[in-house]
Amino acid sequence: MSTVTQKYDEVKNFVGGQFKVNGQQKMEVVCPLDGSTLSNVPLSGMKDLSEAVEAAQTAFPAWSAMTVKERVDILFNYRQLVKDNVEMLAQLVHEENGKMIGEARAEVMKSIELTEFACSMPQMVSGQIMEVSKGVECRVERKPLGVVACISPFNFPHMVPHWTVPNALALGNCVILKPSEVVPLSAVKMAEMLKEAGLPDGVFSVVNGDKEIVEALCDHPGIEAVSFVGSTNVAKIVYRRASSNLKRCVALGGAKNHLLVMPDAHVNMTAANVVASMAGCAGQRCMAAAAMVAVGDVSHIIDQIIVEAKKIVVGENLGSVISKEAKERIEKYIAEAEAAGAKILVDGRNATVADKEGGFYVGATIIDHVKPEMNIAKEEVFGPVLSIIRAEDLDQALEIENSSNYGNAAAVFTQSGGTARYVMEKASAGMIGVNIGVPVPREPFSFGGWNESKFGVGDITGESSIEFWTQLKKTTTKWNPEAWTNWMS
Ligand code: NAD
Repeated sequence: MSTVTQKYDEVKNFVGGQFKVNGQQKMEVVCPLDGSTLSNVPLSGMKDLSEAVEAAQTAFPAWSAMTVKERVDILFNYRQLVKDNVEMLAQLVHEENGKMIGEARAEVMKSIELTEFACSMPQMVSGQIMEVSKGVECRVERKPLGVVACISPFNFPHMVPHWTVPNALALGNCVILKPSEVVPLSAVKMAEMLKEAGLPDGVFSVVNGDKEIVEALCDHPGIEAVSFVGSTNVAKIVYRRASSNLKRCVALGGAKNHLLVMPDAHVNMTAANVVASMAGCAGQRCMAAAAMVAVGDVSHIIDQIIVEAKKIVVGENLGSVISKEAKERIEKYIAEAEAAGAKILVDGRNATVADKEGGFYVGATIIDHVKPEMNIAKEEVFGPVLSIIRAEDLDQALEIENSSNYGNAAAVFTQSGGTARYVMEKASAGMIGVNIGVPVPREPFSFGGWNESKFGVGDITGESSIEFWTQLKKTTTKWNPEAWTNWMS
């Protein structure tokens, strides 16, 4: 056990409606804003998971037998609790993740919106019935899968669990959440508030930990489905492991999003959007602009981008990155690009914030003349860094975008409808923006990328998630006594 003073109580697993102290190994939870100790988190294994699965299996019959309206009644209560506590929850996200308080507040508001979508499940999940022959009816109903798992990353400690947990619960599943071990505090509040909202014990559990518990979730025979959000390398591991154990799996991975900027784009709007997309949440968003493809002569827009980027001040309107290792990784990408001939227009290296010298800060960075073959152009940097890649025309720009292994988002900035339509058609990404730097689809539309940004069928939110969290039961009935002969379809 750490002897360092910590701000919050140690994080515990939440199993069968109770927080549990086990003898597991612990890991320190660090506040990236100043490097202080927030708490410590247990690193759980198969034994801890088995207890959570047992509690969930015990709770499942009664929970799945409730009507969807009864289940969402609890989620209505939960939504209100989150709404009443936005400031407290935002403060926690700010401290554990390092994003600015306004960004943290926006994250919690998005969790509310996601819960509202789950609350509307009764309007969306009715089945189908049809008389297929005289007196013979076919009926299709959606049924829950059973005990399911949700694994989340560090960058949205409150929102990403809300992509999956409310929908999976509303649809009658019992859920085991495995938050990122780096940011486990928001999940504690989620457990407390779901219990206070009236969720029966065992229906929702939290098991904390790292690689070992993720592998256990992929292996445990009592778990029917696994949703994962994180980096592509781990998404591949989880997708392969869970599906080889015959589980349903959707695994969202990393991103490298390209914004194509045309010479006719609105200058101020484009510059403001590009910079907000690349620097918001310190660039640690899977929808962040990582590369801007400058099509033809857009020097007038790049000049304005520099003006916008210079308005960003670390600690005031730009939060920290998650760790010392992340800061070093990001600064290494910048140094390598510079050494390979790229030109740094705005340099955010060596950023510090007064009185927070222990924090992990990288300032907004704009790099021009990045070549598609450089590492910074190909790999996910996950920091407030924009690489500008020059293209002679739109087709060359699309070639650059299409060549990425990733495919979460892509956007075009133009005032031409024809150009926008062409990019909508040709870009190889799951979420496309026209004059929008962060094209996140809002509910009921679903969230999910293409290529190595997502593995599995369907998307993780919205209507697509209804498919993922349910299975169809098809019943054929015959009640007319005169048709006593066997009926064949
Ligand atoms: P990560 O892949 O390191 O961790 C995600 C989860 O996997 C965590 O819960 C972690 O404990 C677990 N994990 C880590 N290494 C593991 C291993 N070797 N085996 C099994 N489990 C392991 O991701 P992160 O650093 O927490 O989050 C940032 C990444 O998530 C970025 O790549 C970002 O693009 C991605 N992300 C993607 C989306 C999307 O919608 N596509 C959304 C948010 C974040």
